[in-house]
Amino acid sequence: MNVVVLYGGQSQEHQVSLISAAGVIRELEKMPDVSLSLAGITLEGRWFLQDKTEQLRCARETGALTIIPDPESALALHPGEGIVDTSGTVLPVDCVFPVLHGAYGEDGTIQGLLEMCHLPYVGSGVTGSALGMDKVRAKQIWEQNNLPVVPYITVTDAITVNQAPSGKNPGPDALSQITQTATERIIGTFGFPVFVKPNAAGSSVGITRVEDSAHLGAALKRAFRVDATVLIEQALTVREIETAVLGNSDPRTFPSGEVIPSHQFYDYEAKYTDPAGAALKIPADLDPALAREIEELSRQAFLAVGAAGLARVDCFLHRETRQIYLNEINTLPGFTPISMYPKMVQEGGVTYAELLRELLTLALERDRHRS
Ligand code: ATP
Ligand code: MG
Ligand code: MG
Ligand code: MG
Repeated sequence: MNVVVLYGGQSQEHQVSLISAAGVIRELEKMPDVSLSLAGITLEGRWFLQDKTEQLRCARETGALTIIPDPESALALHPGEGIVDTSGTVLPVDCVFPVLHGAYGEDGTIQGLLEMCHLPYVGSGVTGSALGMDKVRAKQIWEQNNLPVVPYITVTDAITVNQAPSGKNPGPDALSQITQTATERIIGTFGFPVFVKPNAAGSSVGITRVEDSAHLGAALKRAFRVDATVLIEQALTVREIETAVLGNSDPRTFPSGEVIPSHQFYDYEAKYTDPAGAALKIPADLDPALAREIEELSRQAFLAVGAAGLARVDCFLHRETRQIYLNEINTLPGFTPISMYPKMVQEGGVTYAELLRELLTLALERDRHRS
C-alpha cells in the first residue's frame, strides 16, 4: 500500500504537526506492506517531497520532522489526477495520511483538495472536519441534538469579517466597542470569569482565561488575531476528561483519560513546552456509570458532526454539580506516541501500530462507500 504522510502545514500548529508526524512515520516505516512517501507542507503552503531516510534520522534525533524546501522536490496537486512531482509524474497513492493540525489541515480544506484529486485519506471528510474545527457550529449541532455544551456567546468583528477571512485585528475603536458590548452580554448571562477563544483554532492558541471586565479587551484582541469570530464561554470549575473515538458510521470509544494541568488551565505551554505542565491519567478515575455516560456522549458528539476515522472528544466534568459538558472535538488530535489519543487507545488494548493500520483501513472503507 502506498501511503503519503502530509505534515507541517499552514497553521499555528505547524510545529505540533512536525512532532505528531515523527511518531506516525516511525511506525509506518516498520510495516512491510506499506511504501511510505513524505510530503512536507511549509508554513506558506508549498508542498515538497521529503527524503525518508533523512526525516527518519531527524525524527530519531530530535523527536520532530523538518521540511527541506528544495525546488527539485516540489509537489503539485492536480484535480482529477493526484499528486504530481516536478517531472510531471503522478505519485502512486493508495491512501493519504494528513498528520496536520488546525487551519488547512483539520478544517476540511485539505480534505476537499484530496477529494478533488480522488485520493482516499485518513480521518473525517470535508463536513466533519469543517464542523469539528468550527467550535460555535459544532456547539449548535450538539445543542440541536440535546447534547450538553458549556454556556457561550459569540463575538464577531463585522469589519474584519467583511475585509478578510481571518488574522486581521479590529482597530482600537472597533475593539473597545466590541469589548463594551461583550462585557454587557457577559454580565447579562453567565458572568465572569470567562474563557475567550478564537472560534477555529487548537492547541490553546489565542485562548485566555479572563477574571474580570478589565482584562477582556486584551483577551479579545489576542483571539481576534487568530480568528474573526471569537467565542466567550463561562469558565467552569471542572475536571477535563478526553475520549478517543475510532471508526466510521459505528465508531467505538476507549476508556476516557483525564488531563490534570498544573497551569491555570491547559494552555499551549502545558501541552507542549513545559514537561510538568500537565499530568495525564489514563484511564480517568471515574465511577463506571459516569465513565459510560462520557463515552456515549463522546460517540454521539462524533456522529452529530459527521466525523469519521478518528476524533478526540474533550469533555468537562463539573466539580460541584457533576454535570458533564462537551467542550470540543478534535478531528486530527495530537498524535505522538505519548499524545492523549494514541495513549488512550493503547490503554484500551490497541497498539500504536494497530491503530495506524486501522485508520488506513477505515480510510479505504470510507472511500469505497463514497465512490
Ligand atoms: P486542543 O489542543 O484540545 O485542540 P483548543 O485550542 O481547541 O485545544 P479548548 O480545548 O477549547 O482549546 O480549550 C483549551 C483549554 O482551556 C481546555 O483544555 C481547558 O483547560 C481550558 N478551558 C477551555 N474552555 C473552558 C471552560 N469553559 N471552562 C474551564 N476551562 C476551559
Ligand atoms: Mg481543539
Ligand atoms: Mg486541536
Ligand atoms: Mg481541547
